[in-house]
Amino acid sequence: MASQPDVMDKLVSLCKRRGFIFQSSEIYGGTGSVWDYGPLGVELKKNIKDRWWNAMVRSRDDIEGLDAAILMHPRTWEASGHVAGFVDPLVDCKTCKGRFRADKLEDARCPQKPSKQPGQHDACQLTEARNFNLMFKTYMGALEESASVVYLRPETAQGIFVNFLNVQQSMRQKVPFGIAQIGKAFRNEITPGNFIFRTREFEQMEMQFFVEPGTDMAWFEQWKQLRMEWHLALGLSPERLQFHQHGAGELAHYARAAFDVTFDFGGTLGFQEIEGVHNRGDFDLTQHQQFSSKKLEYYDQLHNKRYVPYVIETSVGADRVTLAALVNAYREESVEGEDEGRVVLGLHPAIAPIKAAVFPLTKKDGQPEMAQRILSDLRTAFSVDYDESGSIGKRYRRQDEVGTPFCITVDGQSLSDETVTVRHRDTLAQDRVHGSQLKGYLAAQLVG
Ligand code: ATP
Repeated sequence: MASQPDVMDKLVSLCKRRGFIFQSSEIYGGTGSVWDYGPLGVELKKNIKDRWWNAMVRSRDDIEGLDAAILMHPRTWEASGHVAGFVDPLVDCKTCKGRFRADKLEDARCPQKPSKQPGQHDACQLTEARNFNLMFKTYMGALEESASVVYLRPETAQGIFVNFLNVQQSMRQKVPFGIAQIGKAFRNEITPGNFIFRTREFEQMEMQFFVEPGTDMAWFEQWKQLRMEWHLALGLSPERLQFHQHGAGELAHYARAAFDVTFDFGGTLGFQEIEGVHNRGDFDLTQHQQFSSKKLEYYDQLHNKRYVPYVIETSVGADRVTLAALVNAYREESVEGEDEGRVVLGLHPAIAPIKAAVFPLTKKDGQPEMAQRILSDLRTAFSVDYDESGSIGKRYRRQDEVGTPFCITVDGQSLSDETVTVRHRDTLAQDRVHGSQLKGYLAAQLVG
């Protein structure tokens, strides 16, 4: 049960107003369920991707990075099962011409008034469910004919499977080891929505960990825990995170076991998947062996045996985690001694788009010059902002609203003793710090 408030509409408006996320091609009326990341949004999402890359690739010897192309040989998608099976069951309504997912009718709304679920109005005329493939098709080369059909990848995983031996051999890796990548994926979703929760173009952060058969369930358990810890370390509240185990009816045809990490987005959306951890067995490598006629076996020199490894997959959406981080961080609170409350994005400092904002208290007496010097010094290490317009209170509010953890103010005293105030976003505490120690002070606060 969801217990958290619904902040989605407020977030959509904040994200637009403050340069996080804009609707794609807005001046033409927008593109359905495609979003553009503005100056602050791109920083936030990049910080999240960097944290994932550091946790999965840079800090481990047993995982290698990869950046495979979006366009792949079309046989890939036959082998993976996407051509035949990557489908949603759809129903059309002959009255309102709406199209809905047959398995998610309870989440859909009929355009007729009053708002009801499709099929619940007397006038609704729903057709039988038909299968609709979610892959975007295009043509490679000059000829638009069936022989040149290629797909925009609906997941990044297949680029990893087809490169399994390239990476293993070039990097002299031994099983167990993993391959990780971050990249765009495309799905012609029928019921997209909820802002950047379900979009048609999105980014995935996926890792396939290749293990010896028989050791797979132990690795599965380990990856489940590690991935939950990663979300917690990102600052997502423990009470908003839960595992959801896929029951027998829910398991994908290839999966031996699957758990979702779910996050409580609040309101009616409630707990939803943000990451999947799957035990895919040897399904993918075996399929690619069959379709490509190339062996994708691992040779274990120590025990002189060959086998097709099993795969534990962790698959998380960069956009969905960005939304979770925003929802988790959004709060409105009153401020003692002030009539107006404040809106705060209490983002984990490590993912905040701006780490520190520098203000001169007034625009005179050399304060702007000193603030600019501090800004240039901090810029070499952190993403920073400068603001000299409006009252200091207004400037604090602007930064609170975009999640800036520290505001640094140069005042009259700064000119005589080189100290500045550092104001903390969450506690509102203010420290006096010497200008020469600012970098170290901020770095110490930003770790973790
Ligand atoms: P859902 O049931 O929500 O459609 P899925 O089970 O199809 O998701 P996977 O194929 O397991 O999702 O993809 C892994 C991750 O990729 C998801 O946990 C989610 O974070 C992200 N993801 C999948 N589809 C989308 C989408 N259309 N928009 C944004 N993120 C997505």
